[in-house]
Amino acid sequence: MTSEDILNIFKKVGGYITGSHIVYTSGKHGEAYLNKDAIYPHTKEIASICKEIANRFKGNGIEVVAAPALGGIILSQWTAYFLSELTGKEVLGVYTEKTPDKNQIFTRGYDKLVKGKKVLVVEDITTTGGSVVKVIASVRQAGGKVMAVCVLANRDPININTSTIGAPFTALAEIKLQAFEEKDCPLCQKNVPVNTTVGKGREYLARKK
Ligand SMILES: [Zn+2]
Repeated sequence: MTSEDILNIFKKVGGYITGSHIVYTSGKHGEAYLNKDAIYPHTKEIASICKEIANRFKGNGIEVVAAPALGGIILSQWTAYFLSELTGKEVLGVYTEKTPDKNQIFTRGYDKLVKGKKVLVVEDITTTGGSVVKVIASVRQAGGKVMAVCVLANRDPININTSTIGAPFTALAEIKLQAFEEKDCPLCQKNVPVNTTVGKGREYLARKK
């Protein structure tokens, strides 16, 4: 699967919107929006993407797949399932959970499943890479070896890569969402209607009134 194939799957399920006028959480405006939550209900699509991940890493001796909850639970399960099928060995799927201080840690005894194992870390979308870095730290703390990190889409290819993440990093798709300050927004200047379904468009319009 190419980067375009992945983005087409996102588009198909409404997870990648283009040609719109979006207000981002940051307050900036832009024409595209990536919504990871839109893809998870579509099991066939998410399974096909995870099968692609499994195919890419089937030769790496992976024994455990780990990901940050909540979306990561789905990703680690499907990826481990296909890795088990492809390698003929049981590969486990586990996840970390967010603590009140925003860390990602193994609970439920999963740290014991990671100990001494070769681990693949997966995640849906990297915006800052923060969650992935925290999962890597938890794997290492539990005594696991991070063999690779794979994300569905990387929103910041310049700042998120193998050297900044601290482990071999792969993104199935890369996407740079261009964002403008409101005063410089070409969509505002063209009076393109603001999208009120995703992002902060509704709040933005309510504030303008
Ligand atoms: Zn605008």
